[in-house]
Amino acid sequence: MKVLVLNCGSSSLKYQLIDMENESVMAKGLCERIGIDGSKLTHKANDKEMVVEQPMPKHTEAISLVMKALVDPEYGVITDTKEIAAVGHRVLHGGTVYSESIVVNEDVKRVIRECFDLGPLHNPANLMGIEACEEAMPGTPNVAVWDTAFGMAMDEKAYLYAIPHEYYEKYSIRRYGFHGTSHMFVSGEAIKFAGLDPEKGKVIVCHLGNGASISASIGGKCVDTSMGLTPLEGLIMGTRSGDLDPAVVQTICNKEGKDVNEVLNILNKKSGVLGMSGGVSSDFRDIEKAREEGNHLADVALQAFIYRVAKYIGAYTAAMNGVDAIAFTAGVGENDIKSRKAICEYLGYLGVKIDDEANNCRGKNQMISTADSKVKVMILPTNEELAIARETLRLVK
Ligand code: AMP
Repeated sequence: MKVLVLNCGSSSLKYQLIDMENESVMAKGLCERIGIDGSKLTHKANDKEMVVEQPMPKHTEAISLVMKALVDPEYGVITDTKEIAAVGHRVLHGGTVYSESIVVNEDVKRVIRECFDLGPLHNPANLMGIEACEEAMPGTPNVAVWDTAFGMAMDEKAYLYAIPHEYYEKYSIRRYGFHGTSHMFVSGEAIKFAGLDPEKGKVIVCHLGNGASISASIGGKCVDTSMGLTPLEGLIMGTRSGDLDPAVVQTICNKEGKDVNEVLNILNKKSGVLGMSGGVSSDFRDIEKAREEGNHLADVALQAFIYRVAKYIGAYTAAMNGVDAIAFTAGVGENDIKSRKAICEYLGYLGVKIDDEANNCRGKNQMISTADSKVKVMILPTNEELAIARETLRLVK
């Protein structure tokens, strides 16, 4: 069975066609600049690449081009789009309604629309992608896999903010958590990789990329996760501040004559290691290079990032009354040997011991703790597309 996985942004569309017999990627690609001049499709299959530059006023045209590429005599991998059994869509926000992936019908589309306020950049694009597939492949099931679903398992004490309850009732203001598909995938893989009890295994997943979040789960069910109403809460990220006193917003507004929206934009796009380093970069490789060259602020930014991750691991261990496994994933988590080691150096009190030789590794499943470490620590590359494809298969089988 072949599953097409789509991740639609406001002007982009990423796709993978996955053969679920062996979970292999048959083709993948990206449509860029949808609705803008210079639209372009880059399609990769069988070690070959095809680039099509053609206007794509809407996602519907982009999907049609993807379909053409998939059946192209030279670059295609199927002979008929009817071979695609189902389409799995990454949908950002399911609000308080959906805690599980679901086959799309009119009710599901209504909820995606009702959540435009909660996911203003992503939900409209996600809906466009679904409607484009309905038009291009009538009768082929579409499945919505929510980025917020994993966090819906949190208990009230973890997801409610300590603000007047009426705001939850009126506007659904609560902690949702994002990167849910990644946390679901990696926590499941950690249970298997570390040989933990599938019902009781206590896992902390550190998804450390340009966006960063951390989750605590027991038996794959989320106990807590660091992002909140929006992805701004929690860890220090490439450009996002993570946790701070909300009065910081008021103070910057007053001192700089800015409004709340402008300051929130600064907290989302100009803060994190980019802001802390005095503007060096949001890219962790650049920050590390600057630190090696003696840049003090870059050094502090990295130290603060590492310190915040270590504090969250401590908090989440307390929340679960223990931890069996800690998994590192995403760009920094999978590749940054020094940051992983520095985070683990805070965890001696948990009996964490790292094997430096094993940690000297990038981007593959790898146990990095020693045999006598009390907690198993590992690198597990995330694969959100495969997680979406598995969910899609589960629902349409
Ligand atoms: P992601 O958002 O998951 O794609 O992760 C992107 C981040 O991973 C960027 O900040 C990269 O600098 C970082 N990254 C990728 N490779 C490395 C590496 N070898 N060392 C440190 N950071 C890395």
